[in-house]
Amino acid sequence: MKCVICKSPDIQKKIVDEEIKVESDIILVSVEVLVCSNCGERYYDNKTMRQLEETKLKLSTKNLKVQKVGKVFRTKVA
Ligand SMILES: [Zn+2]
Repeated sequence: MKCVICKSPDIQKKIVDEEIKVESDIILVSVEVLVCSNCGERYYDNKTMRQLEETKLKLSTKNLKVQKVGKVFRTKVA
């Protein structure tokens, strides 16, 4: 498999933090995906996509335990 963006053959399985937004909160979900080592493009298989959809659904109905790891702030350019 080659990267469709940069044509690099260097694609590896990695655990990444996927961001799921629920209202004004962002929840990080660890998933194993294929990542292009050259440009960082992520490739999701159908199973991972389904899992993320399911996770998003459970999060929006508060049906999944989350752990607080940080805060998100907003500002304007200085
Ligand atoms: Zn690439």
